[in-house]
Amino acid sequence: MKMQVNKQMAKSNIPTKASQEFRNFPMVPRVVYGVGSFDTLGDILMPKRKHSEAPMIYVVDDVFENTELINRIPSIFCDQIILISANEEPKTEQVDALVSMIKEKFTELPSGIIGIGGGTLLDLAKAVAIMLTNKGSASDYQGWDLVNKQSIYHVGIPTISGTGAEVSRTTVLMGPEKKLGINSDYTTFDQVILDPDLTVGVPKEQWFYTGMDCFIHCIESLNGTFLNAFSKSYGEKSLELCKEVFLKDIEASDSREKLMMASWHGGMSIAYSQVGVAHAMSYGLGYVLGVKHGIGNCLVFQYLEEFYPEGVQLFNAMLEKHNIVLPKGICSKLTDSEMNTMVTVALGMAPLWENALGEQWKTIINPEKLKAIYQKI
Ligand code: NAD
Ligand code: ZN
Repeated sequence: MKMQVNKQMAKSNIPTKASQEFRNFPMVPRVVYGVGSFDTLGDILMPKRKHSEAPMIYVVDDVFENTELINRIPSIFCDQIILISANEEPKTEQVDALVSMIKEKFTELPSGIIGIGGGTLLDLAKAVAIMLTNKGSASDYQGWDLVNKQSIYHVGIPTISGTGAEVSRTTVLMGPEKKLGINSDYTTFDQVILDPDLTVGVPKEQWFYTGMDCFIHCIESLNGTFLNAFSKSYGEKSLELCKEVFLKDIEASDSREKLMMASWHGGMSIAYSQVGVAHAMSYGLGYVLGVKHGIGNCLVFQYLEEFYPEGVQLFNAMLEKHNIVLPKGICSKLTDSEMNTMVTVALGMAPLWENALGEQWKTIINPEKLKAIYQKI
C-alpha cells in the first residue's frame, strides 16, 4: 500500500526509512468475518504449526474464565491458554514477564500468539509476539520503527469493538517513562477473526466507552489537518455506522456487526492520518490517574466543543440516548505537580496537536487552557 499523503503529516508524524513523503503501510493480510467464524481458528492455525514442541499461545481476557469460549479454543499438543485481566492497561514489564515465562517453559519459540479480548489483550498479544524475537525490554521499542526483527505469527480476535487495535500497526503500552505505542511494520496482526457474537456479553457502559473510542477516532480524523482521501473514505463509513449504532434503534445483532465494522474502518482511517485533542488529553489522564482509554476519551471529549462542535453535539445525543452518566470530579484531587505532569504528557503528543490544529498549534493551545479543561473533568 503506497500512496501520497499530506506532506505536513509525513514531516511531523513518523520518519520512515523509505520516504518522508510517502508512507508504505502494512495491512492485516488475512481476515475472516461473520457470526460463528471463531470456530475456523483451528483450521487457520494448523498450517502455521511448526511442530509439536512449538506451541500456540492463547492470551485471553480472564472475563472468559469458565465460559464456553474457552472450550472452543483449539488448544492441542503443548499449546497454552494464558488468562489475563484487562482491569489495567498493558505495561511493558507485563510484556517482559510474559515473554520470559514463555521462553522458560518451552524449548522452542511458539508457532503463534493469539490474542482474544479487547484492546488490552490485543495489544498484549502484539507486544509479546514482537518481544519473543527482539532482544531487551518492550520499553526499548516504544516509539516509531524501532523494531528490527520479524515478530512471531500473531492472530487478533476482538471480543469488544471500538479501538481499531485489530487493524492498527501499534500496540499501546505503559512503560517506566511513558505511555507510548510500539509502532512498527511487525506489530500488525497476520490474521484477524471478526466474529460479532464474541461481543455478546459486553456490559453496556463498557460497550459505550469503547464504542466512543471509535466515534472519536472518526471525528478527530475527519476534522484533522492531515485528512486525505484515504482516511476520509474509511472515516466517513465508520462515522455512518457509529451513528446507526448509537443514535438509531436497531437490532442487537445488527448493532454488534455494525460496530465491529465501524471499529475496523475507524482504525484504518487513523492509519493514514492521526487522532487529535481528545486522545492527547486522554493520554495525560491515563498516565497520571490510570484512567482507561475509552472512558478517558469520553471524559475529555465532552468539553471539546471549541474544537469539535458537531462531534460534541452528536456525542451528547448518544450519551442521552443510552442514559450514560459520566463520572465527575476525576481531576479534583490532583496536586499541582500531578496536573503539570498531565499537561506535559498531553502537550508532548505533538503530531496529534498538529493534526487537530495545524502547524501553528502552539499559538492556539497552551498549558493554562489544558488545565482549565482538565479541571472541569
Ligand atoms: P479492554 O480490552 O480494556 O476491555 C474493557 C473491559 O471489557 C474489560 O473489563 C474486559 O474484561 C471487558 N470485556 C471485553 N470483552 C468482553 C466480552 N465479550 N464480554 C464481557 N466483557 C468483556 O477495552 P478496550 O476499550 O477494547 O481496549 C482499551 C485498550 O486498547 C487500551 O489499553 C488502549 O490503550 C488500547 N488501544 C489500542 C489501540 C491500538 O491501535 N493498538 C487503539 C486504541 C486503544
Ligand atoms: Zn483511541
